[in-house]
Amino acid sequence: MLSLEQLNTTATAGEFAALLDGVYEHSPWIAEAAWARRPFPSLAALKLALATVVREAPVEAQLGLIRAHPELAGKAMISRRVTAESSDEQGRAGLTDCSPEEFDTLQRLNAAYNGKFGFPFILAVRGPRSTGLNRREIIETFTRRLDNTPAFERAECLRQIHRIAEIRLNDKFGAVPLQGRQAWDCAELLARHSDVQDDSGDAVLTVTYLTEAHQACQAQLLRWMQDCGFDDTRIDAVGNVVGVYHGRDDVAPRLLTGSHYDTVRNAGRYDGRLGILVPMIAVRELHQAGRRLKHGIELVAFAEEEGQRYAATFLGSSALAGSFNPAWLDQVDADGIGMREAMRAAKLPATMEAIAAERRDPAGYLGFVEVHIEQGPVLNELDLPLGVVTSINGSRRFVGEVIGTASHAGTTPMDRRHDAALAVAELALVVERAAKREPDRVGTVGMLTVPNGSINVVPGRCQFSLDLRASTDAARDALTDEVTGALQRIADARGLRYRLNETMRASAAPSAPVWQARWEAAVQSLGLPLHRLPSGAGHDAMKLHDVLPQAMLFVRGGNSGISHNPLESITDDDAQLAVDAFRHLLEQLG
Ligand SMILES: [Zn+2]
Repeated sequence: MLSLEQLNTTATAGEFAALLDGVYEHSPWIAEAAWARRPFPSLAALKLALATVVREAPVEAQLGLIRAHPELAGKAMISRRVTAESSDEQGRAGLTDCSPEEFDTLQRLNAAYNGKFGFPFILAVRGPRSTGLNRREIIETFTRRLDNTPAFERAECLRQIHRIAEIRLNDKFGAVPLQGRQAWDCAELLARHSDVQDDSGDAVLTVTYLTEAHQACQAQLLRWMQDCGFDDTRIDAVGNVVGVYHGRDDVAPRLLTGSHYDTVRNAGRYDGRLGILVPMIAVRELHQAGRRLKHGIELVAFAEEEGQRYAATFLGSSALAGSFNPAWLDQVDADGIGMREAMRAAKLPATMEAIAAERRDPAGYLGFVEVHIEQGPVLNELDLPLGVVTSINGSRRFVGEVIGTASHAGTTPMDRRHDAALAVAELALVVERAAKREPDRVGTVGMLTVPNGSINVVPGRCQFSLDLRASTDAARDALTDEVTGALQRIADARGLRYRLNETMRASAAPSAPVWQARWEAAVQSLGLPLHRLPSGAGHDAMKLHDVLPQAMLFVRGGNSGISHNPLESITDDDAQLAVDAFRHLLEQLG
């Protein structure tokens, strides 16, 4: 087994590269350049140093690295002219036992991919759990990636190469991300419960508030919390699963943590759930070691965050924050089932008194922390497994309509038109420019409709939406002022009228500095550089923000960070780092 000690004390770059032989296919230059970056405080730091050498190398060297890899199930593989590592990995993925049809498909894909991009398709076939993708998953991924642009695929091949190297390094070090795999496997098991089954009987992951699948998840989480050693466990009045692991000091305030277990329709497996599983496994470690911290840990698996079944979001965390709106109980779902009725069917009390009693007294808690998959491409593009959230973005939403004059497309000269759609098109470009000009601002015109439009009519009306977000309320409002000011100017210049109605306003939830600093210390303790980023999406922490100091940790998502999609992905190694960071945060509380 290789050790960091051995690597950190090598006398020459050549000696260092020899110890890391085979980690990067036929490319000792990577290890040779990384030698100067010693000492490495952790295996994660070594992996990142190697990835950084590749990131900083010229494009030609990066392409050389990609081209040093064999084709998947290619002729070189079949005739065993590849490295032992590649042959082993492809064999484990079953690529040596392809049916003739699968073999033909892979050869066709190899040819098409090489023809389009000029380099071989690279996929870490041992996959996000290190234990191997199956041939169907490999062929699906291959087919999907053929549609990408050359620049994206070059970067994606390099990310896959880093994942291959990560697994090879784990093998060399005898390092197994055990707790990361537990989190990964639990997410997999939880994903078997779904409101929807597709034709093949596979779950199309959809778990909405208080359905049968939702209650099955609830029961599973309750059982796991008990198995992990939580002292008190219960289902609360809104269906949250609550577990408390007592501290040494009965009167000391607790740490509150958690995330949601409901999902959007056709969801990924980690959104929300990762933030339940990571603390659960950290508590399991404490329990198995027979350890009590000074402060108790209260984990809440929130029953509802996504707003899929009823026209309200954050039902679970609102109950804890004391902001559960009694009017929500009167809502009905698409099938006409009222929320009260659904609650009673799920054996919940379905009264406002019971829900109000779930409000947590802030004096009883230190603060709230949440671990969440990033749901965006930032960490993935930077080759960073973890990031610390600075603020959950504040947002404002509007729906509007521009009113001009519908007129004949053939007879109305260009300088006599009052085209409502062109005004909105101009506005959309203003939104893009204004949001791009400053960091951490985003703006979207997600709907743009010409009611009763015709191919030969100048648009007389155009309806549109605006979604504007920024990491502080001031920045959000400045962006809004800029966009609404531009709308006025555009309308005046084109001789148009408009209406604009604000439909939603949510305050930004900046992280509490002391809690953000704890996450930062946790990330740095793992030998990883600090990367701070705002959260573009809303999270349960946003609700708890009203009553407790809060801060979030983001975990890198694979597949460009895609989320609210079955392609959402994390690796066992990244989940392990999240568990390690959470444990470090616990230790800081004394
Ligand atoms: Zn979420």
